[in-house]
Amino acid sequence: MPRAPKWVFDTLDFFMSKLPHVEVVKAEYLSKTLKLIRIKGDFNDLALPVGAFFDIRVTDTDARRYTISGVDAEQNTLDLIAHIHGSGCGSDYIDALKEGDEMILNKPRTDQKYYEQTAEKTIFFGDETSLALACSFLPVIKNTGQYFHFIFELEEINHDIPRLLGFEDYSVYPKKGLFQNQEWLKESDLFKNIEWDDAYFVLTGNVKSVQTFRKTIKALFNVKTKGHGFWLEGKKGL
Ligand SMILES: Cc1cc2nc3c(=O)[nH]c(=O)nc-3n(C[C@H](O)[C@H](O)[C@H](O)COP(=O)(O)OP(=O)(O)OC[C@H]3O[C@@H](n4cnc5c(N)ncnc54)[C@H](O)[C@@H]3O)c2cc1C
Repeated sequence: MPRAPKWVFDTLDFFMSKLPHVEVVKAEYLSKTLKLIRIKGDFNDLALPVGAFFDIRVTDTDARRYTISGVDAEQNTLDLIAHIHGSGCGSDYIDALKEGDEMILNKPRTDQKYYEQTAEKTIFFGDETSLALACSFLPVIKNTGQYFHFIFELEEINHDIPRLLGFEDYSVYPKKGLFQNQEWLKESDLFKNIEWDDAYFVLTGNVKSVQTFRKTIKALFNVKTKGHGFWLEGKKGL
């Protein structure tokens, strides 16, 4: 529920248990439009599979989704990576967060399955909003023999961010609607460099990119997909 009257959120908040005392211990810009938030609290009892995310109440009447990108069990910290796009209350809320701020958080949600244990090959696609989800795969990559490749469409200022975040097997494309263009996709080098048949695709980020990419690969290859659009031009909250 991205938007609701204040009394609805107040009532839900009254009945839903909150994570005790969560504090921002790091608030760092990775670039002009990407911000890492590290929060400290008692997260020991939480199950945090790949892609666990928070529904954060960012104003009296709005909640927005942000994925847990990393967990440090020893330090009891969780990381979030947010796209600061400047056009919404979620982006503004994260932009304003600073060290020492307290955050009121419900338990993270774990109802989306992004990681497929049986897949030999996983191809991940997304944009700035997907970087946190992509990062949540990193421990899996380290601990399994599965093949992973990450495809990002990113603003130019963020082209080096995947490397900084620790990705090795990835490709970056400019964020200028390429993945919304079926003709470009069919002709692109994407389909020449990787063996796609039988791969499992996790497609996230811009809704139109997800839809077009999914349609194209389904028409060309025998693949399984998990598509989850994270935002849509002109639509508030998703
Ligand atoms: C399961 C899930 C997990 C998510 N995890 C993350 C995450 O870890 N990090 C993250 O940054 N985002 C994440 N998102 C996406 C984020 O919740 C949306 O981008 C959300 O719309 C941001 O809210 P807002 O209030 O800033 O903008 P809104 O009020 O929702 O939208 C206002 C305007 O801004 C536009 N807009 C929204 N998002 C973007 C964007 N990224 N770029 C450009 N324009 C935009 C909208 O189209 C609209 O026109 C996730 C979404 C889902 C569903």
